[in-house]
Amino acid sequence: MLKGKKAIVTGGTRGIGLAIVSKFLENGADVAVCGSRKETAERAVEQLKIKFPDRKILALYPDLSDPASVEEAFDFACKELGGLDVLVNNAGLSARASLFDYDYAEFEKVVNLNLNAVFVCAQAAAKRMKETGGCIINTSSMVSKYGQPAGVAYPASKFAVNGLTLSLARELGPYNIRVNAVAPGVTNTDMVAVLPKEVIAPIVAQIPLRRVGEPEDVANAFLFLASDMASYITGAVLPVDGAARS
Ligand code: NAD
Repeated sequence: MLKGKKAIVTGGTRGIGLAIVSKFLENGADVAVCGSRKETAERAVEQLKIKFPDRKILALYPDLSDPASVEEAFDFACKELGGLDVLVNNAGLSARASLFDYDYAEFEKVVNLNLNAVFVCAQAAAKRMKETGGCIINTSSMVSKYGQPAGVAYPASKFAVNGLTLSLARELGPYNIRVNAVAPGVTNTDMVAVLPKEVIAPIVAQIPLRRVGEPEDVANAFLFLASDMASYITGAVLPVDGAARS
């Protein structure tokens, strides 16, 4: 479904991002994998190269909220891959403190990665897709629609990601750049593994499909949106949440 496409995936070293990278590689894309650190990015890419020896796979580790660092990394990726068709803004961070204990620095840290970095990377990608077209897919979250009972920076940042998605879809449509988001529900990754059982069990009980999502469930939605099958879809926020609605 992605034969010949060139993609950059942020937060691609584990969890949902790693599933997206694997799905893209399986479907014929070449991929630059961004991680937060050199070691984790290189380790993930080493493993992927064993599984996908015929694909081009790069390890990048820019500071995603620093435009200069992102420009340098995207220049390198475009040169090595031979262009850019797909950007996935997936890197994200969650914190669950109550408002009464919320440290402002922590609020800034979440917004910096979950929102500011999405702007920086979208801008860098759009510049490189302006002549050729392409697509940008952001990882939102179910909580962008419903909020959550603590950790307000996270749902607020994802709500803003939806806004950025809708607005950029309108702004970049004339350049044939599609912009969409995927809004996963609770998904079985490290981010969720740290949550106590008593937090997870009542959530699962309220999911009509009676299970949390797997990274592959979510990655399939990214594959569809990145492919030409979604050629007339832009400005969408696609829920992948088993119909969980709270
Ligand atoms: P994860 O913690 O397993 O992975 C997070 C990824 O982000 C990693 O690849 C990590 O390297 C990267 N990252 C973290 N901090 C970074 C930084 N400062 N700079 C650059 N990269 C950084 O999380 P996940 O569950 O796979 O989440 C991936 C995305 O999905 C996030 O945007 C998250 O908000 C979203 N999401 C997750 C769930 C869930 O239940 N797991 C639900 C909805 C949305």
